[in-house]
Amino acid sequence: MHDSNFLKENNARHLWHPMAHPAEMQATPPKVVMAAEGVMLTDVDGHKTLDAVGGLWNVNLGYSCDPVKKAIAEQLEQLPYYSAFRGTSTGPAVELSYMLRKWFAPDGMVRSFFTSGGSDSVETGLRLARQYHKIRGDRDRTKFISLKKGYHGTHFGGASVSGNANFRRNYEPLLPGCFHIPAPYTYRNPFNETDPARLAQFCAQALEDEIVFQGPDTVAAFIMEPVLGAGGVIPPHESFMPMVREICDRHGVLLIADEVITAFGRTGAWTGSRLWGVRPDLMTIAKAITNGYFPFGAVMIGETVAEAFETNADSFGSIGHGYTYSAHPVGCAAALACLPETHKADVASNAAARGAELLAACEGLKAEHSLIGDVRGKGLMVALELVSDRDRKTPVDKKTIGTVFEVAYAEGVMLRVSGPNIILSPPLVITAGDVAKIAAAISAGLAAVA
Ligand code: PMP
Repeated sequence: MHDSNFLKENNARHLWHPMAHPAEMQATPPKVVMAAEGVMLTDVDGHKTLDAVGGLWNVNLGYSCDPVKKAIAEQLEQLPYYSAFRGTSTGPAVELSYMLRKWFAPDGMVRSFFTSGGSDSVETGLRLARQYHKIRGDRDRTKFISLKKGYHGTHFGGASVSGNANFRRNYEPLLPGCFHIPAPYTYRNPFNETDPARLAQFCAQALEDEIVFQGPDTVAAFIMEPVLGAGGVIPPHESFMPMVREICDRHGVLLIADEVITAFGRTGAWTGSRLWGVRPDLMTIAKAITNGYFPFGAVMIGETVAEAFETNADSFGSIGHGYTYSAHPVGCAAALACLPETHKADVASNAAARGAELLAACEGLKAEHSLIGDVRGKGLMVALELVSDRDRKTPVDKKTIGTVFEVAYAEGVMLRVSGPNIILSPPLVITAGDVAKIAAAISAGLAAVA
């Protein structure tokens, strides 16, 4: 391996990073992470930081989860690859679909379709939703509705239903027939509504209005994250998703829960849908399913959709969709080892308890630092939205929030900065001491720019 300087210099020269401007890499080189243990990262200079990002919302059990590592190594030895296209399957693929049916039974999910990650899962979910309607003879039900500020990955379908201009503008034209309604985001919304319950009602009404405006017989599905993640951590009022379920049912529209972040305990419940007491028709999962150690995902399929496909006798029911790495046996083995660990360690309860502490600590910081405009969270998904003027809610500039990041990093905590937001999504196994350390590092960062 080359030395620290070689890695830093050549990173800027040769490597294009997701969600980054290639020209920015010289001025603000990324942190080069070389090793990790527990919840701690070590960079190329030997500097250690507590990972308050949890990889990318995915390393829920931390970096030392030996059963998952062992399962991956053993599966590589035994059967490193075989396909699950029509005519073949593998042991781990069958085992995993069997286990997932058990784990997701309370969510009403009865079948699995495997993918290589979140964007693949979203794409699969959108396509299965359209096919479901075609199978049933509703061939005009092709449109999708979603939330502004929602994030559903970067494939063309996912980007089309995503609600952030940064991921859309440069890639247009996107998929036709995708429409967006306001998110239940109390800090900024077109209704000037700060009461979460009333705002939930307005947003739900906007969904119903949009379905009626488009013509219910043209709408295939509504897709939402139970707690919006990448858009800045927006937990809706508890009434929102149940209202959405009811509206979708009334108009024959499928509900796709994008649980790429929220599944496997992050919100304090096994899934975000379960947190809100809702059974979606399709559920997209990925990320923590393998603790981030192997690229993997799935679409979980509810009973209604499964039945439509399985009872269809003609060619409409055949799934003309799939990936070379759908049901990759190593990914399946990783998930099979990861999910019992996730349950055994009862990480969801820890996420709820530590999440409440983290939210309270961030609320405390808001009282001390005028730069914090809003604090939001559910479980171990927390955001601090920074503003340069609290009354006007002016988003902070890139340089200011960049300095907060650097100071916190020097203090020993890796944060994630996204627009004006500091986003916290640490491993679900963190301790109360870790929570205090994260809050102290953010406080130091904010003090440095005050
Ligand atoms: N959906 C949601 C809700 C996500 O948060 C993400 C990734 N952050 C995706 C889809 C896309 O997943 P991936 O990056 O694994 O393709």
